[in-house]
Amino acid sequence: MHILVTGGAGYIGSHTCVALLEAGHEVTVLDNLCNSSAVALERVQEIAGKPLAFIHGDIRNPDDLDRALQGGADAVIHFAALKAVGESCEKPLAYFDNNIGGTIALLQAMERAGVRRLVFSSSATVYGEPDTVPVTEDAPLRATNPYGRTKLVMEQLIGDCCQAVPEMGAVLLRYFNPVGAHPSGRIGEDPAGIPNNLMPYIAQVAVGRRERLQVFGGDWPTPDGTGVRDYLHVMDLAEAHVRALEFGRDQAGARAINVGTGRGYSVLELVRAFEQASGKVVPYDVVGRRVGDVAELWAEPALAEALLGWRAQRGLATMCADAWRWQAGNPQGYDGP
Ligand code: NAD
Ligand code: UDP
Repeated sequence: MHILVTGGAGYIGSHTCVALLEAGHEVTVLDNLCNSSAVALERVQEIAGKPLAFIHGDIRNPDDLDRALQGGADAVIHFAALKAVGESCEKPLAYFDNNIGGTIALLQAMERAGVRRLVFSSSATVYGEPDTVPVTEDAPLRATNPYGRTKLVMEQLIGDCCQAVPEMGAVLLRYFNPVGAHPSGRIGEDPAGIPNNLMPYIAQVAVGRRERLQVFGGDWPTPDGTGVRDYLHVMDLAEAHVRALEFGRDQAGARAINVGTGRGYSVLELVRAFEQASGKVVPYDVVGRRVGDVAELWAEPALAEALLGWRAQRGLATMCADAWRWQAGNPQGYDGP
């Protein structure tokens, strides 16, 4: 298939491009590089040993979208979005414009081009503070911040379009906590500024870019008092997209599917696993809880197995070893020497 990948230069997009090229698909990336580097795409092509097409443009610009779709795409994988929860509270309109406005422009361009297949990057954030774990896809949906609201609204917009156009099919992949990097160490997560997420923060402490980790809360109702999440290797997630495309070929309507391992780890378990993988000490202080956090969140991944034939293959030690290989080899991310 020929796939348009919006946001393909980003963290999850770049790893998915490797998996797509390796599965024999043709890839066009549309990315405005607002949170990524073109170097990532050079390295994707180097890893896969195959070329991809890159359009430096914005999903809110209809001309850029038409150009990206003119080669005749069979499907779109839609990663392009702003994703920082804290920033979304300060600049909600920027998030509504980029994420929701961008998705509307994409759906319109798909309609113009007659492209009917979509795989969408949703998030476990749509479950808000869940009543029970593991979380199943039919759990109540709630937004607890503007970023989460954009994901919820985008899911609904896509669902409405699928209702209106019977030939349209969409797979809404609800990711849990993607971490790690390609085993080559050539591509990985390269957050701008201070990392918001736990794994890149730990990696930057281990490599000496930051002094100490702050553990947000030691008094959660969890076995060691720290928050529990479902960490998922980014290459497992990338492969879930390849499966979702295959599943989406003859699927009508919008289908939400959790992508997680079904196993939770605490902050301190992740710290210990990373220390073991890297041979570095990760000093930390336990501080107050972060506003908006939940005690524990992990997926019920049975639907992904039933519908996509997908289940996570890589464990926590591999996630940490691959994250460390990337961080140690690229201490300043893509900007480094
Ligand atoms: P990322 O920031 O690394 O990648 C997003 C890419 O989209 C970037 O390359 C950015 O330049 C591009 N982009 C943003 N706005 C654009 C626009 N208007 N036009 C063109 N390109 C644009 O983020 P990521 O971690 O790879 O996340 C990818 C998707 O997965 C996002 O939709 C995100 O909300 C979702 N998601 C991420 C996580 C996570 O923990 N990383 C968890 C759940 C869901
Ligand atoms: N966390 C932490 N210190 C950090 C970043 C995160 O203790 O610097 C904790 C956070 O409270 C949560 C877990 O690590 O329990 C995962 O947080 P992350 O932001 O990576 O993912 P999310 O909260 O979105 O699931």
